[in-house]
Amino acid sequence: MSPHFITTACLDWNDQGTPVAAAFDDVYFSNDDGLAESRYVFLGQNDLPNRWRNHDRPLFVVAETGFGTGLNVLATWQAFLDYRRQHPQGNAQRLHLISVEKYPLNHTDLSQALAQWPELSTLSARLLAEYPLPISGCHRLQLDENVSLDLWLGDVTQVLPSMEAGLSGKVDAWYLDGFAPSKNPEMWTPALFAQLARLARNGATLATFTAATLVRQGLTAAGFEMKRIKGFRHKREMLAGVLLRHHRQPYATPWFWRRPGRIGHTVIVGAGIAGACLAHALTRRGMRVTLLEQHGAPAQGASGNRQAAIYPLLNGEHDNLSQFYLQAFLHARRTLCAFTEQHKVAHDWCGVVQLAYDETSSAKITKLLAHHFPDTLLASLSAEQVNARTGIAANLAGLEYPLGGWICPFELITALLAQAKKTGLLHTRYQTQVESLQAKDEQWLLTTSTGEVLADNVFLANSHGVLDLVQTQGLALSAARGQVNYQASAPSLASLKTVVCYHGYLTPAWQGLHCIGASYGRDQVHLEYSATDEQENHHKLVSTLPALNDLPLSSGSGRVGVRATSRDHFPMAGAAPNKAAQLQQFDKLQRRQAQAVPLAEDHAGLYVLSGLGSRGVCSAPLLAELLAAQLCDEPYPVSRPILDSLAPNRHWARKLLRGQPLR
Ligand code: SAM
Repeated sequence: MSPHFITTACLDWNDQGTPVAAAFDDVYFSNDDGLAESRYVFLGQNDLPNRWRNHDRPLFVVAETGFGTGLNVLATWQAFLDYRRQHPQGNAQRLHLISVEKYPLNHTDLSQALAQWPELSTLSARLLAEYPLPISGCHRLQLDENVSLDLWLGDVTQVLPSMEAGLSGKVDAWYLDGFAPSKNPEMWTPALFAQLARLARNGATLATFTAATLVRQGLTAAGFEMKRIKGFRHKREMLAGVLLRHHRQPYATPWFWRRPGRIGHTVIVGAGIAGACLAHALTRRGMRVTLLEQHGAPAQGASGNRQAAIYPLLNGEHDNLSQFYLQAFLHARRTLCAFTEQHKVAHDWCGVVQLAYDETSSAKITKLLAHHFPDTLLASLSAEQVNARTGIAANLAGLEYPLGGWICPFELITALLAQAKKTGLLHTRYQTQVESLQAKDEQWLLTTSTGEVLADNVFLANSHGVLDLVQTQGLALSAARGQVNYQASAPSLASLKTVVCYHGYLTPAWQGLHCIGASYGRDQVHLEYSATDEQENHHKLVSTLPALNDLPLSSGSGRVGVRATSRDHFPMAGAAPNKAAQLQQFDKLQRRQAQAVPLAEDHAGLYVLSGLGSRGVCSAPLLAELLAAQLCDEPYPVSRPILDSLAPNRHWARKLLRGQPLR
């Protein structure tokens, strides 16, 4: 089994019906009313819900070691709903929960464990609907409009060090669960306690059911002021603590730090999938947003194709890139599935079949399958199975992403913007070309074709257009022209049931048309339709699938877009770096890493979301969450290695770190 994948918990049920973890020989919650214990120990001793009313910002963050059955999470969510009903004007407006779990329960066990709390049944049902596959990393679940949960699957001793803490911590209250220290000594270590302090904001509190001396002393050494208090019901003692003044270590990788944004007005440039997801993520957080778009309508650039295939870009190494795209795909699938149920967006989760059409693609598929991803994510298909699944005589083996499919990006973008507008916080301005940006008194002055605009923060979500602005022209992005054919359905294609990928892709018919794509013209930006590209798309398809030989050319029916791409295939998501300043700051960085290095200079308040290539629908929902989290100084939904891989300055920062010359 690959180290990236997760073993689910093996459960017994004791006479009281309480789940017991076989590996630890310990109960998930008290036999004596687990819900009451949860409220007493974790909520009560963190002084929740009282603290929510006068919290110092709209977001309150609770983090937990050991998700288990999710009982603590559900109890906290329920308490937050009650608090919001009683104190709609209370300071804490949103609750963000983080929980880490090494051995997640499978869906059936989780459902059985939660069934014993009828008063939580509505919340349990929602959690069960969102509960992720057992895949390592962060799964961000939107539990309701104001409550989100980052469920990190993995060993907490490895997960916490990979979590970004910002400059001053992010967690307001810790629930230290995770079986008794005597049953699980590997978890309760000084290293773990140091991580709890690193991630905590000043004034953060902590509660745990145990009163073990090693825990009390360890947490004290890490910086928490600890006290023993009466335990739940018959239990003698438990521990609670507070982080009063924490001596923070200098930022470990100052070249990749992430600057939070300013409170106030945010401008997004570009109404494609990146801009629409950002507008949605920011307005949901109560930010006032103006969206500027050069065209007369949204989705007129590369996001305007009729159908976009959605599936993860995995590789045989399952490296950072593969992990990022898997996480992004699962996030997109979860959020878009919920979104498309509520809004009119043409889509079909029909599955995506990838063909083994030559030696290289066969070898890649074999390597991928060796990782033993869950079958629900990725399944091996024989040639016969490919024919049965796709409905066409491909006669090639391959694999399927059963959760994949296609979506109409135009309708998705329109619906996202309509939803964002409902908040009353989004203003859109079309036919508005941004010509230049100027930093002015802690704000940005945008000169546009329809007048000047002032903003506290600016997000450039305008694809390769970021290269036209002085501040971002040095980013390592390229333009790549892409053309798709819109193919009228034909008898040989009428039975197509899934998206099919080879060195191109083919979608099932929607309104009588298929998409056959896409050409790739590196550094090309012209938008004229090309008959040569049309023939190439057609040729790639029929040479891979001779059964489709009878297809005529699409004869001028299709669409051209220009995507922004990066050499390492990662998108760019973060503050716009001040390249000239950074090259000076980080000169000879390789030799100076042990010394105190200053935080990387960026253009304060200016952010980039670009380089999404042809995978914007897959990556934009997660990237927008990430950037909204950065702007509002909230916890990030991805680990530090992935954050660093998305940093807009990574190309030169990595060279400087390795001591390589810059061109
Ligand atoms: N908070 C849970 C609830 O509300 O149901 C109960 C937690 S249960 C007592 C302890 C959990 O910690 C188990 O699910 C166990 O798998 C998890 N755990 C133990 N060691 C861990 C580790 N090193 N990393 C992450 N999770 C761990």
